[in-house]
Amino acid sequence: MAIDATQPYDDTNIFAKILRGEIPNKTVYEDEHVLAFHDIAPQAPIHILVIPKGAYVSWDDFSARASEAEIAGFIRAVGHVAREQGLVEPGYRLLANVGAHGGQEVPHLHVHLFGGGPLGPMLAR
Ligand code: 5GP
Repeated sequence: MAIDATQPYDDTNIFAKILRGEIPNKTVYEDEHVLAFHDIAPQAPIHILVIPKGAYVSWDDFSARASEAEIAGFIRAVGHVAREQGLVEPGYRLLANVGAHGGQEVPHLHVHLFGGGPLGPMLAR
């Protein structure tokens, strides 16, 4: 079910558990600010989730409260993962769902990185 992106951070969410090592994940990249791992239910040949290590509910929360270092680290990490996966030349798609209309289900900011083949129209209608 989609979440309310204005809710306070809930540290029982699934990505908080992944960050604490309570649930396994297939990590593709990690640094002081960021963890990137394969989505459990991929919707493209390559479907990676990039999340900040800080406690941010959504893109809205992160863009309002995160430090310059966290924001720079996150944006650079998304680009780094895409390059490392060989996605720049063929192309890829980034997606961040925010709140109910965005269809966000996990209340910890994540950017979806899709690639590995043609991705079709931007939105299914
Ligand atoms: P949202 O709809 O919130 O933008 O996307 C949440 C994403 O998290 C979905 O693509 C879903 O498949 C993924 N996901 C949910 N639970 C887990 C999990 O336990 N492990 C991993 N790797 N991905 C998960």
